Amino acid sequence: MRIPIIAGNWKMYKDLTESKALAESLKNCLKDVNPEDTEVAICPTFTNLASVNEIIKGSNIKLGAQNMYPKQEGAFTGEISPLMLRSVGCQYVILGHSERRQYFGETDASVNEKVKVAFEYALTPIMCVGETLEHREKGITNSVVKTQVEGGLKDIPKEKAKNIVIAYEPVWAIGTGKVATKEQAQEVHAMIRGVLKNLYDEATANSIRIQYGGSVKPDNVKELMAQPDIDGALVGGAALKADSFEAIVKFKK
Ligand code: PEP
Repeated sequence: MRIPIIAGNWKMYKDLTESKALAESLKNCLKDVNPEDTEVAICPTFTNLASVNEIIKGSNIKLGAQNMYPKQEGAFTGEISPLMLRSVGCQYVILGHSERRQYFGETDASVNEKVKVAFEYALTPIMCVGETLEHREKGITNSVVKTQVEGGLKDIPKEKAKNIVIAYEPVWAIGTGKVATKEQAQEVHAMIRGVLKNLYDEATANSIRIQYGGSVKPDNVKELMAQPDIDGALVGGAALKADSFEAIVKFKK
């Protein structure tokens, strides 16, 4: 059984004071969420990870980072290592978000390197994939997403892959208010599961959680989560307010 996972990507929002306040509110309003029922993670900016960790430590909210450099340490000015993420309490790391692919030149190969190193340091990658509007209009969504999934998972053995979280995020739906319909999302999620089955086996494919991301809100989460291959949500805008993130996390209510 796949436990649904709802993760909040705070992107480059919230200074230290605001991050701590949001973490406090979430700790409070999500305290009745059973992690066996729904897993919750929040991903603040690097500078606020340690302080947010102090607040949520011991609670049912897990901590994630939004990126990582795939080396333990070294002369890589401005970068953050997996060891550093672990030392401030991170269990998850978002890798290959479309904004990083678009603005920072990330490719399937660089995402793959990061996925490998994240696993080495016991961080669970939330690996993002998704087509642009142009891809969708050209009818090449499936082949684009398949290439991203295969590229990101290259040489990752099934014992590790079974723990990855994949976030299917159609680029045209991120931050735009345009959500994929439940049918559009389910179709791609099922396709991704098929790719995973081909790469590994049925049991592995069935154990990997695939989140949907792209304008998830309290009023659309329920129908998305009702789809058989949608196992969670990666939430941007609606994760920045405690009440909307709470409503998304509690989608079963
Ligand atoms: C995201 O940042 O991954 C995302 C899905 O953003 P939003 O929910 O704002 O579309």
